[in-house]
Order: sequence, then C-alpha cells, then structure tokens
Amino acid sequence: MTARILVVEDEPAIGDAVAYAVRSEGYEVDTERDGGAALAATRDDGYDLVVLDVMLPDLSGVEVCRRLRQESDVPILMLTARDGEVDRVLGLEAGADDYVTKPFSMAELLSRIRAILRRRELDRVAVVRKPARIGAIELLGDEHEVTVEGQPVHLTPSEFKLVALLASEPGRVFSRREIVRHLWESAYVADERACDTRIWSVRRKIERDPGRPERLVTVRGIGYKLVPA
Ligand code: CA
Repeated sequence: MTARILVVEDEPAIGDAVAYAVRSEGYEVDTERDGGAALAATRDDGYDLVVLDVMLPDLSGVEVCRRLRQESDVPILMLTARDGEVDRVLGLEAGADDYVTKPFSMAELLSRIRAILRRRELDRVAVVRKPARIGAIELLGDEHEVTVEGQPVHLTPSEFKLVALLASEPGRVFSRREIVRHLWESAYVADERACDTRIWSVRRKIERDPGRPERLVTVRGIGYKLVPA
C-alpha cells in the first residue's frame, strides 16, 4: 500500500521541492499552505505522515502539531529553522515524532520519512505484548491500551513504546541513551533532551502529580525507572 503524505509549507519553492522529492519516491503527496487547511485536510483524509513546517502564516507549526495530536496519532515530521532550538523542543513536546533542520538535503528528509514509516509499520506488526501491571498502571497487551487506577489513558504510539520499555523490567533503571535508542532506532535522530520531553508528556498522563512523580521516577545522573505506586 502506498503511503500518503501531507506536506504543509507556505513557501512554494520549498513546499513544491519537498512534494516533488517525496512523490519521486513513490509516495502519494498532497500539499497545504497553512495550518488551518492542514488541520482540515488531516481531519477529512487519512495520512500516514505529515511533514509540517514550523513557520506558517496563520497557526504556528507547533500549534498545528498540538491540535493534530489531540485527534490523531499520525506521525509528524517538523521542519525547523537552524536556530530554532526552542521550536524543536516545543515541537517534540507537542507530539512531533522527529524534526529536520533547515536547510536540509532531500536525501536527509527522505531518509527520515522512510525511518518514521518503517517504525510505524513495525509498531503495527509488533508482536503481541504481554499484559503487565506495575502498581496502578496496567498494560493491556497488544492493543496499545494502558489504564491508570482502572481508567483508560490515551498514549501516543511513542509514549506507549516508552512505557512498554520501562514496564518490561519494572524497577530497572533505563539510561536516557538506552531510551533514545529504543524510541528512535536511529543514530542521528533525536537527542537526549527529546527523551526528557517524552518522559514529561507520559508523566502528565500517568502521575497523580506530574511535578512530583512517584511512578515514572528519575534516577539522578542515570535515567528513569517505572516503579509500583
Ligand atoms: Ca514556512
């Protein structure tokens, strides 16, 4: 099945070049020029991936990402400015899967797109995970479902992957590097700070008080562990 990709970029020269390159790889491509149109398009149409520029005329790419995440798990690859460190962090916090910094080569962009789609495919065909219970947190096996104190909690695929990793050995400390490798499966993708933003977004969903975590706890200087609480 051909993957369908939405490219959101207001600068025609960049948007068209990206669309052309992606189409040449055999993917189906649509383009949108602003955030509002992008949100409408993703609502009506199932995409396998969204390439989202952070600088858009109406909503910022980060805001589009945040809103998109509220209704969809579609993978999002952000395009950020070279000096846009803040945008990169905010984008990952808002639920983006990865980012590419402008100016980028088409080869680099395409390789990131392939990596995200491959990961998506692996997630889909992932072996049935065993149910697990760690204190108030319960993983319900292959459905990517998690409950906390009996209440269903919606996790994005990458958040689920993080929880499933830590739940595979409750109490064991996983280093940030280990988590990054597991989540991104790529040497040159996200840095360890991206790991922290994922931890933070999971805590908001599974902790009684995310500011004082008692389930997904930090082990200073080493990493993170999941403990019964
Ligand atoms: Ca732009």
